Amino acid sequence: MKGQLFDEIFRAGRNILSFERVRVMVKIKKKWSSVTCSCCGETIPDYLIEGDRCGACGSMKYYERI
Ligand SMILES: [Zn+2]
Repeated sequence: MKGQLFDEIFRAGRNILSFERVRVMVKIKKKWSSVTCSCCGETIPDYLIEGDRCGACGSMKYYERI
């Protein structure tokens, strides 16, 4: 199955690809200072800090040690 899919993709070549002109929206960067997460010790930009913790230790945490 996996091999068949690869064969099909390689056989199709560039015909399965498409392109178009786009403009990528980029916000102007603002100055920031670095702060240290009190939980993991990681240095992160001050605008990403959640209280005294980085996102990975705060709202973006997706696992916990067991
Ligand atoms: Zn952290």
